[in-house]
Amino acid sequence: MLSPLTRNETILVLNSLGIDVPTDTKLLDDILEKRLSDALAAAQYKDRLPDAARYNLDEASKLYADVRAGRNIQNALFVDPFVDLRQTMTDIAKFLDLGIRWCLIQDEPAQESAILLRKMLLKILKTNSSLVPPDYNVTRGPLEERFKVSVLLPVGPLEYDALSKLNNNMGCTVCGKRASSRCSSCQSVSYCDAACQRADWAQHKPACRSLRDATWRTVQLRAGVPEMEDCWFGLMNRHTSLANPVHKQFLLDDARPCVDVYGGRPFLAKMQISPPTVTPGRIMVYDRRQTFLGFLREDVDLRAFAECAAEIQGPRGGLMGLKMYRWARRTGDWELSVCLDRAVADAKW
Ligand SMILES: [Zn+2]
Ligand SMILES: [Zn+2]
Repeated sequence: MLSPLTRNETILVLNSLGIDVPTDTKLLDDILEKRLSDALAAAQYKDRLPDAARYNLDEASKLYADVRAGRNIQNALFVDPFVDLRQTMTDIAKFLDLGIRWCLIQDEPAQESAILLRKMLLKILKTNSSLVPPDYNVTRGPLEERFKVSVLLPVGPLEYDALSKLNNNMGCTVCGKRASSRCSSCQSVSYCDAACQRADWAQHKPACRSLRDATWRTVQLRAGVPEMEDCWFGLMNRHTSLANPVHKQFLLDDARPCVDVYGGRPFLAKMQISPPTVTPGRIMVYDRRQTFLGFLREDVDLRAFAECAAEIQGPRGGLMGLKMYRWARRTGDWELSVCLDRAVADAKW
């Protein structure tokens, strides 16, 4: 009998699904387990077969880099539990199509990965057994009387929505319970309640002071960019499924500002600059939940554009000098106050 996934294994599997839980996270065991259940549920394609969605751009580009560098892509099977799981699911489906009714999953002696794989499969089977209609009858073979009936579904990479949701709320800094608030002066740490925040204050104080002295800049935005005003606009990024590319659409119209769902509270904004050789002079700004989208344009707010562009392309910028994440507040329909000089790590959206 296999034991359930251990805490370390759960973190390993979460990481392989693209959920960046640190190995030393304080999140409580049951929260971690719930997050893994949610992640595995989101990775299963219940409403469509994923022919066109076996990969997203993020995975495809990593695979391409491996092939170009001459690395053996088979290796990924034994180091990445999620890749392993998906490959195994495909193989099981292939066997079933061939009419094979039994399938044994085991390792070569030196490969421990299949232990993790089997634990994941068992977890999925256990959860999915609730999908079997109660009146569903199976014909059981002589050794199968005690078997439980469940379902396996195609599994693919987590899509934008799930990934951004599951990467959110990494728990109270002190105790690991679900966090409900952030330090109001710096926004950089989360707590479950006031007691934990008080307990952490002596330790957090120096970092908090330095963040509080950050530079907040007011930036003027527009709904669209020249030649694209009054158009519908959809966002796609490297975690978007290729089968379901448009997540949400915005009508690029200055007269129709996005509703302020944050009520003046700080939120994390992604600022992404267009390559100067393609479309110079614009930075797209949006939030994780895609409730807000605007453009910081050189022709509208020259000074803010220059400052933000320098920050994106400077040492605190993100991916290839093209994007950064910053805390921001809505101060008007098309105006934000942005905490410019405090880096926020790659937030996976
Ligand atoms: Zn706490
Ligand atoms: Zn603070």
